[in-house]
Amino acid sequence: MAKAPADGDRAVRVRMAPSPTGPLHIGTARTSLYNYLFARHLGGTYVLRVEDTDAARGSDEFERDIIDNLHWLGINWDEGPQVAGGEDIGPYGPYRQSQRLELYAAEAERLLASGQAFGCYCTPEELEAMRREQEARKEPPHYNGRCRSLTDAERDAFLSEGRRAAIRFRVPDETVVFDDLIRGRVEIAAEALGGDRVIVRSDGSPLYHFVVVVDDAAMHITHVIRGEDHLSNTPLHVLLFRALGHEVPVFAHIPLILNPDRSKMSKRRSQTAISAYREDGYLPEAMVNFLAFLGWSPGTEEEIFTLDELANRFEIEHVHKAGAVFDKDRLDYLNGVYIRSLTDEQLAVRLRRFVSDALDDRGLVAVIPLIKERMVRLADARELVAFLIETDAEVADRYGPDELVPAKADAAGTAAALARARDEIADLAPDDFSTGELEARCRRAAEAIGWKAGDFFKPIRIGITGRSVSPPLFGSMELLGKDRCLARLDAALAKLATVVAA
Ligand code: GLU
Repeated sequence: MAKAPADGDRAVRVRMAPSPTGPLHIGTARTSLYNYLFARHLGGTYVLRVEDTDAARGSDEFERDIIDNLHWLGINWDEGPQVAGGEDIGPYGPYRQSQRLELYAAEAERLLASGQAFGCYCTPEELEAMRREQEARKEPPHYNGRCRSLTDAERDAFLSEGRRAAIRFRVPDETVVFDDLIRGRVEIAAEALGGDRVIVRSDGSPLYHFVVVVDDAAMHITHVIRGEDHLSNTPLHVLLFRALGHEVPVFAHIPLILNPDRSKMSKRRSQTAISAYREDGYLPEAMVNFLAFLGWSPGTEEEIFTLDELANRFEIEHVHKAGAVFDKDRLDYLNGVYIRSLTDEQLAVRLRRFVSDALDDRGLVAVIPLIKERMVRLADARELVAFLIETDAEVADRYGPDELVPAKADAAGTAAALARARDEIADLAPDDFSTGELEARCRRAAEAIGWKAGDFFKPIRIGITGRSVSPPLFGSMELLGKDRCLARLDAALAKLATVVAA
């Protein structure tokens, strides 16, 4: 089994190589994190390379989403573009593949010159016919070697027909063996690659398998840490490294992320864009902690780690082979832990963009003790503080008279109980209008009329907040203030009166 490098080995250089064909995906974020942790753990260099050769599918908007959200997670890199559309930093740039096309062309020429690649003049129609014949013979699809050894005359004939050559890499007939830091020794027969592979299309555009190898070599990448979905590509990459005369990097293929039913996580089944979690109010610290555990564990019961602590502890050999199940409940749990670890002031800063400015900063800090325990995501605060922002009329519009009535009571009885509560509250001197006093009075009043506290509180809660589930009732009342509480209770009593009279 390959060993992770020790001090004194060749300086570690790793890269993340996202394709900007979609927003930052959970899987890419996790791969990026593992590369980051690996580099930081070993004092190595971390490179961002934007794999944007697929101009049809790629976009600047996705590059921005990927870079912004990696920064949001706290993942930073030493080389490559630091901001979307920005200048590159580092000695091996440019770091966008769309700007490296000359290098790919030169490297392809090298393979042609050494005979390790050849021009292939087959048209798409001919290749399709070949594929169908193989299918009919129940053979796995493979390139049949038709242009492997063309004579000059045959080549000239194709050219005069106006055909243009794609470049195919001559795949040797051997079993490719490499040591993977996570999976151990991997042996795959090159036959599985389906024959000689196109590395440059006939329009001159190079393919992923080729450019990834050219760039990993040119950027002196020592360790390729990427998703297990690339494992079957790795034999081809190993052969290309060798053909180009480069040292083969060490590979580490990290397990797939799975849905709870163990199917591969997909955006149809789960939310996969990091930006969506950010919008919902997951804290980056919780997200990072969660992602780190998708396929790795420290081998202890500890579960809360900062990014620095993770970098300290992360050992690539402790990454699991088995797929990592995406457990949303665990993410919610971690987010709650991180939310509650913040001071009220710190939390107010994080909450600011989730809560309307109609609640000013002081009001926001004041309500936090009431809602902190109840929030799973920062966006939950919006609903939890709404009763403070809504007008009395808006609160009243949220419920009908029947909702005020507890299961075992009727409208008239509820009206009497609520009137009693209103009187108790009205009776309080402004200085006594506190959570403790409000609760004590309401509990005594409930007892005096023989109501269970929960039943007695129900119409008060709905009248005050417009909701049957709310932050702690008496704390909410204290924040709202006496006048607004009385106005809201009067509105509730007026609603009840319409059904009592009827
Ligand atoms: N651009 C490739 C991807 O996003 C990179 C794969 C690799 O790390 O080699 O899947």
